Amino acid sequence: MNNEKIKESGLKEIAKIGLENEKISRWRTRLLDYKFNDAYPDDKYVWLTNVLALKGVNSGNFGVGCILVDVYGNVVVQGHNEVFHPYFRSDRHAEMVVMDEFEDIQLDISKIQFTLYTSLESCPMCFVRLITSGVNKVLYASPDMTGGMVREKKNLPQFWLDLYEGKVFSQARCSQELINAANEIFHLNVDELIKKIKNIHAMKKRS
Ligand SMILES: [Zn+2]
Repeated sequence: MNNEKIKESGLKEIAKIGLENEKISRWRTRLLDYKFNDAYPDDKYVWLTNVLALKGVNSGNFGVGCILVDVYGNVVVQGHNEVFHPYFRSDRHAEMVVMDEFEDIQLDISKIQFTLYTSLESCPMCFVRLITSGVNKVLYASPDMTGGMVREKKNLPQFWLDLYEGKVFSQARCSQELINAANEIFHLNVDELIKKIKNIHAMKKRS
């Protein structure tokens, strides 16, 4: 997929992001104005994950976006975190949303190589899911210093370490601007949403 097609696809998503919230609106403009830096091979894909991450924040979800790209560079599936909306689903991280849709299409993953791009380093749940799925390359924009599993993979039980063998999980090659954007978009509402999850748990304890 060439730069124009990726841009077009991202612009369609940006058009769905509202202008009511000032912080979101500012990021919307920054992403709209961003020019792909072709010195970095993953730049355009990471930009698209950032657009999707912002769409996630705009819908009241965590700000993480994700796409699955085939060996020809085509974006096969795209999505963002959906933990809170349309309804509370604790497993609907961006990677899960994309992999659920991908596996429902039933493309033969053994015949085509796929790369999954995510705006934020995967958590333990998604890391194990992705290992199991057979996607052999996962590239993330921003490291997640508090919840990321890629740096912690040596602590996995041996079974998962064996399954991980031959797979690549690493940081995408994109501009520093996009890495910062991924991190900052995630932090737009993360504290507020973690409080929301803790409140749900506290309410369950009381009932
Ligand atoms: Zn996750």
